[in-house]
Amino acid sequence: MSSVVDKIWATLEPLTDPEIPVVTLRELGILRDVRQTPAGIEVVITPTYSGCPAMGQIEDDVRASLEQAGIEARVITQLAPAWTTDWMSDEAKEKLRAYGIAPPHRTCGSGAGEVSVLKFVRRQPTEAVACPQCGSTHTVVTSEFGSTACKALYKCLDCQEPFDYFKPY
Ligand SMILES: [Zn+2]
Repeated sequence: MSSVVDKIWATLEPLTDPEIPVVTLRELGILRDVRQTPAGIEVVITPTYSGCPAMGQIEDDVRASLEQAGIEARVITQLAPAWTTDWMSDEAKEKLRAYGIAPPHRTCGSGAGEVSVLKFVRRQPTEAVACPQCGSTHTVVTSEFGSTACKALYKCLDCQEPFDYFKPY
């Protein structure tokens, strides 16, 4: 019974993000789960953020792959818990860097568990983002929106290369 689940993971393994062809949906944490339910097999995906224009494409890709492999499964888009860049594997972050996109820092959205006294202490608003080309942290943000809304545009002041930074959230 679980062999079908394994087969689905194997089938979907090569699927990559439509915007970042070097990382797979599994590595990004977009492909959440493959589960056997009384109603049949469900493949669970979570968009990187609601309204991400790539999501329809991702869903289509997943469906097409399943169909090609002759697998009957429903594709479920699950919005909660919301995707965060923490779900991205270290492997994926490394691939992003190699591709020229600075990977996200750990999310700073840990405010929920924090004591309210700390709320006046502002976190460092912008951590230094290392240039994926030369590793320099001597970088500046040039636009809050890069090639897609998920990314900010940065420029390295050392090698002068512009690059995308995958924003953490
Ligand atoms: Zn650089």
